[in-house]
Amino acid sequence: MSKQAFVIVGASLAGAKAAEALRESGFEGRVVLVGSERQRPYLRPPLSKDYLRGAAGLDKVYVHEESFYDDHAIELRTSTVVERIEPASSEVVLSGGERLRYDRLLLSTGAAPRRLSIPGSELDEIYFLRSLNDSERLRERLRRDGRLVVVGAGWIGCEVAASARQMGLEVTVIDPGSVPLEHVLGAEAGAIYQEIHTDQGVTMLPDTRVESFEGAGTVQRVRTAGGRAIECDFVVVGVGATPNTQLATGTRIEVNNGIVCDELLQTAVEGVFAAGDVANARHPLYGPLRVEHWANALHQGPVAARNMLGGGDPSDRVLDHPVAYDRIPYFYSDQYDVGMEYTGHATDWDEVVFRGDVQGREFIAFWLKEQRILAGMNVNVWDVPDQIQALIRSRLRVDRDRLADADTPLTELAPDLQPREPQTPAGAAARAAAKAGAGKTGEQPAASPSRWSQSRGEVEVEDVVSALRGSGVLTHARLVEVCEAAHWSDHGFKRALDNAISTGRVRRLGDDLYEAAEAAPSLRTG
Ligand SMILES: Cc1cc2nc3c(=O)[nH]c(=O)nc-3n(C[C@H](O)[C@H](O)[C@H](O)COP(=O)(O)OP(=O)(O)OC[C@H]3O[C@@H](n4cnc5c(N)ncnc54)[C@H](O)[C@@H]3O)c2cc1C
Repeated sequence: MSKQAFVIVGASLAGAKAAEALRESGFEGRVVLVGSERQRPYLRPPLSKDYLRGAAGLDKVYVHEESFYDDHAIELRTSTVVERIEPASSEVVLSGGERLRYDRLLLSTGAAPRRLSIPGSELDEIYFLRSLNDSERLRERLRRDGRLVVVGAGWIGCEVAASARQMGLEVTVIDPGSVPLEHVLGAEAGAIYQEIHTDQGVTMLPDTRVESFEGAGTVQRVRTAGGRAIECDFVVVGVGATPNTQLATGTRIEVNNGIVCDELLQTAVEGVFAAGDVANARHPLYGPLRVEHWANALHQGPVAARNMLGGGDPSDRVLDHPVAYDRIPYFYSDQYDVGMEYTGHATDWDEVVFRGDVQGREFIAFWLKEQRILAGMNVNVWDVPDQIQALIRSRLRVDRDRLADADTPLTELAPDLQPREPQTPAGAAARAAAKAGAGKTGEQPAASPSRWSQSRGEVEVEDVVSALRGSGVLTHARLVEVCEAAHWSDHGFKRALDNAISTGRVRRLGDDLYEAAEAAPSLRTG
């Protein structure tokens, strides 16, 4: 029985999934999950969508059942703030002065909404949206009707505007960009969202800065830099978020747009890890990358957990091989009847290629640099993120005309990519699972029931299987890449898989990979 204590600060999606992964990996030491909020870990995406509109209940929001934490001997400490870290003594100090010793520490403290410091910011009826409490307050306000001004046309601003319109309110959206979501999607694709909102009756005010809020005690109008006054009953400010890095102050943990960590999600201080919105992690494809999205929190938590299990006292070590976090960023948004998934990361591109019916809002947009796909966004088209991911990872140049041609299968765009049989759940299904409160799942399937329970081999095989599933196609190059990213040292297994693939034995992922793995003697015994 391990005597180690692992402390997770931030009872968030990343934190909860890390705690779950620690137990799943067989860690038997103490796991303490500390969170400043009153509720047990929950998912934030519904807070601006169906939960906000009253179309989904709390059951859709929580990451785990209430009993999960006790059942797994996870000490969940809600309404508890970690005031500071003392790395010299490996302790965290809680509000109230209690000290908790840790052998490993995970920081999953997330992000906080950016505030505006303009005149009138202190007036009543100005809302922000980050927490469940925020969403409940705003939900109550939306039910009372009135004229809403949304400041900021990012994802949260756009989703709140859509929810409010769906509830019949009068909505104006103000943003300094020329179109909504401009900083992520650029002008061309952002213009589509502009149209979606205006079609629904939202007044969009692009190229507009807010100068002040005015009113007597309660906000009554929003004054723009151009001097225009927009009368309103309440305001929602959605102008981005800043990572909660305060705990790093006074320690050697490096902060630069989040908590800086390596590919293994370890910070500059050994034994201290970071995951989720707060982590600025070195990504094998993108370099330093901080991602404020659900899927990133969902998957970084378990990777951090796995790496927390390496090293230290050999008798307490559960896993030996660290795992690099190399997932391609993925997120989704729902506005009215327009659902989208965005895969990749594009900040600088040569052109955006559209495929499908843009007018009918069933299309895929691709962001290309030097003919290589950096990112893809599928709008009301489903089951393609795996293929988009494979194209991004391949870094192969694509023919833009064929890319634009919806009749050319995506899998034929690059010579190395093979069509695969459907084996992962649809992106839409995974998103539905997320909406249904499934921090329990991800955009990837739960691993097949394992035949090697309790063995070390099981965990490693599942990592590789899920990485391969995520890649969308099973090529020799991808297999080698995944095994290397997993610091896979078992060449026997790699060879067995190799062999199975080259002889055509592996037609499906999952069970067939397990079958191939079973043929590897070194893993059978665990
Ligand atoms: C309204 C809304 C809608 C969203 N919609 C989408 C979407 O549609 N698609 C998508 O991909 N992403 C969406 N996101 C983003 C996604 O929810 C976040 O990326 C995700 O929640 C990040 O999770 P996390 O685990 O990193 O941290 P968080 O969820 O931010 O949680 C961090 C937790 O740590 C706690 N904490 C911080 N400091 C301390 C401390 N010192 N002591 C104790 N506890 C502390 C905080 O109180 C908080 O509970 C949305 C976010 C919001 C707010």
